[in-house]
Amino acid sequence: TKPVYAFEEADSKKRMLLGGKGAGLSEMTRLKLPVPPGFTITTEVCNKYYDNNRKLPKDVMPAVMKNIAKMEKKTGKKWNSTKNPLLVSVRSGAAISMPGMMDTILNLGLNEKTVEGFAEQTKNPRFSWDSYRRFIQLFGKVVFGVNDEKFDHVLNSAKTKQGVTDDSKLNVESLKNIVSEYKKICEAHTKRKFPDTPNEQLVLSIEAVFKSWMGERAIVYREKNNITKDIANGTAVNVVAMVFGNMGDDSATGVVFTRNGNNGKKELEGEYLINAQGEDVVAGVRTGKNIEFLKKDMPKSHKELSNACAKLEKHFREPQDIEFTIEQGKFYLLQTRTAKMSASALVKTSVDMVKERLIDKNNALARIPAQQLEALLHRTIDESKIKNHKQLAKGIAASPGAASGIVVFDVKKAIELGDAGNKVILVRKETKPEDVPAFFSSEGILTSLGGKSSHAAIVSRGMGKPCIVGCSELKISYENNTCTANGITIKEKDTITIDGSAGTVFIGEVPTVEPQMTKDFEQILDWAQKTKTLGIRANADTPEGAKLARKFGGQGIGLCRTERMFNGSDRINLFVEMIMAENIEERSKILTKLGQLQKSDFIEILQAMEGYEVTIRLLDPPLHEFLPNPEELVERIQKLKASGDTDGVNKTEIILKRARELAEVNPMMGHRGVRVGITYPEIYEMQIRAVFDALVELTKKKVKAHPQIMIPQISSIAELNHIKKIYDSIKKEMEAKHKMKLKINFGTMIEVVRAALTANELANTAEFFSFGTNDLTQGTFSFSREDVEGKFLPEYMEKELLERNPFQSIDVNGVGSLIKIGISGGRGVRPNMEIGICGEHGGDPSSIKFCHGAGLSYVSASPHRIPIAIVAAAQAVI
Ligand code: PEP
Ligand code: MG
Repeated sequence: TKPVYAFEEADSKKRMLLGGKGAGLSEMTRLKLPVPPGFTITTEVCNKYYDNNRKLPKDVMPAVMKNIAKMEKKTGKKWNSTKNPLLVSVRSGAAISMPGMMDTILNLGLNEKTVEGFAEQTKNPRFSWDSYRRFIQLFGKVVFGVNDEKFDHVLNSAKTKQGVTDDSKLNVESLKNIVSEYKKICEAHTKRKFPDTPNEQLVLSIEAVFKSWMGERAIVYREKNNITKDIANGTAVNVVAMVFGNMGDDSATGVVFTRNGNNGKKELEGEYLINAQGEDVVAGVRTGKNIEFLKKDMPKSHKELSNACAKLEKHFREPQDIEFTIEQGKFYLLQTRTAKMSASALVKTSVDMVKERLIDKNNALARIPAQQLEALLHRTIDESKIKNHKQLAKGIAASPGAASGIVVFDVKKAIELGDAGNKVILVRKETKPEDVPAFFSSEGILTSLGGKSSHAAIVSRGMGKPCIVGCSELKISYENNTCTANGITIKEKDTITIDGSAGTVFIGEVPTVEPQMTKDFEQILDWAQKTKTLGIRANADTPEGAKLARKFGGQGIGLCRTERMFNGSDRINLFVEMIMAENIEERSKILTKLGQLQKSDFIEILQAMEGYEVTIRLLDPPLHEFLPNPEELVERIQKLKASGDTDGVNKTEIILKRARELAEVNPMMGHRGVRVGITYPEIYEMQIRAVFDALVELTKKKVKAHPQIMIPQISSIAELNHIKKIYDSIKKEMEAKHKMKLKINFGTMIEVVRAALTANELANTAEFFSFGTNDLTQGTFSFSREDVEGKFLPEYMEKELLERNPFQSIDVNGVGSLIKIGISGGRGVRPNMEIGICGEHGGDPSSIKFCHGAGLSYVSASPHRIPIAIVAAAQAVI
């Protein structure tokens, strides 16, 4: 491959090589759309630059200059000309778009001499000198790392000196002074003369864009968005002939989506600014005009824009996100890329485009990032409760969903408070790429400036976080840590609620409601259900959870954690009493009561899942988890002593003694799961009996219940057979007593490494397997599942020792191999054995893809993730 391709000669299918922007520009050039001439320096050059100790390979600049010469021909302008200079922009563009994460330089080619030529060319000295000062500012910031504030300071003093408040009122004299001051700032910073030749400027700018690929902002963004080297490796650099949206009132610049990015409606959505440069719209510094007004302002350009949008959609078969500029009435396209849309917009456009015969059902499913569907399952404001809450302000609805939290204005503080477990709403005038880490720590984002295509809006939408922008009624004071709207002042840490679907901000916490399924979403799920082959079950341990799972399309329960049922306020004390019981008689009495409670729980859950399998797992955690921890008990005793409550002291001391007896150094690998069932068989007997009792009762009522019993933490066939004997004897007793056959499958979790390795033995007794990948991952890595994420795991990811968090996304090489061994062991004995997965990975799209490929029967995920799992399972087939 060559290091540089002109837009008309590049193969636009090579996104990895050209980056998204380069590929889009060359495709548009081929489609004969009005794109300014230019060329792309490939991502391969970026990688060579890094391999080469951050130096450009020798063949790059000669190739660049050849292409500059081509641009001269096409534009009729001349590089470094004092009469009619060619000016260019230098823009980054990786294979995966990373909005605002990397650097751009505009107006390159200007110096003390060419600026005069530019003035002649444009017949506008003021504009030329303003372009020049903008160039130095951007170049100084991007190439030399000069702090923007220094430039702002000069600009502000110049305005004061001339007695104007608006940048656009600065005269040539003032601008010339600013240019000279700006250069002094750069020279003081770099201790060298400001580079004056366009050639020098171009080399430095290309290098700066390559450097920005490894900038902190870009690295964090890639990490958080899982952008790995296989999908984007380095950035390309695009050099494009400048066109100006700020050449007067017949010029404009704007950003449009070919369909509404928030709700998916088939209408142009976006904003433009008359007499402005592109960055002004994207940065959200000025709030743009709604695109529909362009029809009146510039009817010819509006028509050209609409036609281009239609052509591009038809060509790419995806809604596009387009940047355009109108220079003195002439319309140009500067970028096109697949529009980043909210989840509901993705769903609606998928269904619509199938109806329009633009795509087929498989394309419709494949284009929805399953993870993003989570946003559709987000809570929304409870409309019936709104009247009890005072509205603070209204802004632009930028990303759907509702969230409440405490107001935080400072980015660092938002991260601190958010990561400490507080619900934070980040409130800013505007946001910048370097603020993105705070987005991850916040529940929602609210800004007073900016439009729907501003940074805050796009980033939030991608993350599925509620966001309101352009809330201009809100006056934010960073100094006082307050914001004020409609006479009400909100201080830091006051609670507000934002509704990102309507754009409304409320004071206090407004109740929210479960999301409603739209017809379009149902359609997508229906297509996905018909496409997928993998079963989807739920991890649910309450009747509500079971009902929700079923509503979302879950077909059965893959994991009912029975210990969660003991946490109810009506039974936790009973369970503690059971643990405290001094002898088996006493314990059995309490267990009988607990058995009654469990039975009624099972009945409700089985009923909610009628017709589907419900896998009930017997008690798993160590018993001491149900007791307060010893330190807390010691404190409690001291307090009781101080208050003279001797009775209380005695009782608590007994609990303390028991808690200390049960305490373990390493409880996760301690007395838990089947090990508890073996040492306290009466507990498992009670649970097994409760399942049989529930089945008997439901069978009598003609409810089709399919409970299965599953044993946790099994490591050997001996353990499993030990419990099977108890199960067999209860089954026999129950069948005799009720004179009916009672079918309850008996199976095991595979969550201990040894279980996976000896699955062929376990399958002789187990009728089904379910992989507990949380514990299996813990055991395979010897990483404590409770601790690592807050300790060394982030550093592991940073240092690229791990590509993904293995507790989130299955470790295919390690844990995946164990799963494969387990499956072949099990199916070697029972060819059609039902084998599923019930760890957290069951709701993770990339893990689901693996599960599908490995031949699992089903995945089990938490109810809210079921739609995601259904779509991911369908995508695994496509
Ligand atoms: C597992 O270990 O993956 C599992 C599902 O069990 P738990 O998370 O309850 O330990
Ligand atoms: Mg487990």
